[in-house]
Amino acid sequence: MLSEKMEQALNDQVKWELWSSYLYLSMATYFEDMGLMGFASWMKVQEQEEKFHATKFYGYTFERGGRIKLQTLEAPENSWKSPMAAFQDTLKHEQGVTARINALMDLAISEKDHATASYLKWFIDEQVEEEASVQDVINKLKLVEGNPSALYMLDKELATRVFTPPAATA
Ligand code: MG
Repeated sequence: MLSEKMEQALNDQVKWELWSSYLYLSMATYFEDMGLMGFASWMKVQEQEEKFHATKFYGYTFERGGRIKLQTLEAPENSWKSPMAAFQDTLKHEQGVTARINALMDLAISEKDHATASYLKWFIDEQVEEEASVQDVINKLKLVEGNPSALYMLDKELATRVFTPPAATA
């Protein structure tokens, strides 16, 4: 059984993952509005990943005899001053998610909840990838700054990203 505190923390994490998905869908609308369909598509893939994370925490919580109660999702921002600003916000957001996952791990360790600690390892590794993939786009955005035809090429590149649900789940 999960402790009450752990159950609540997992519930909060489900909300946080769903809110991440909501934020990235909002970013997709921003890029779509700009005609940057590759960027919009990248954000929609990101959006699906976050929903997958939420569902993963949902499944784990029930598996351990807990219960999920969905919470209110506040409206995310809907406009950014540039594609770079949106991606910088994305990185900041992912760093915040990493801090939350680490706090969950700290809680699992302090409660001697080995099953949850083991489960969370997948998310610890996933966050390394999440931050790296966002940083990669930021690096490319720096390179194309002030060059519309290079931005157009980057848009084409980002359009190739597809969502593949990870096969191995811890
Ligand atoms: Mg996530």
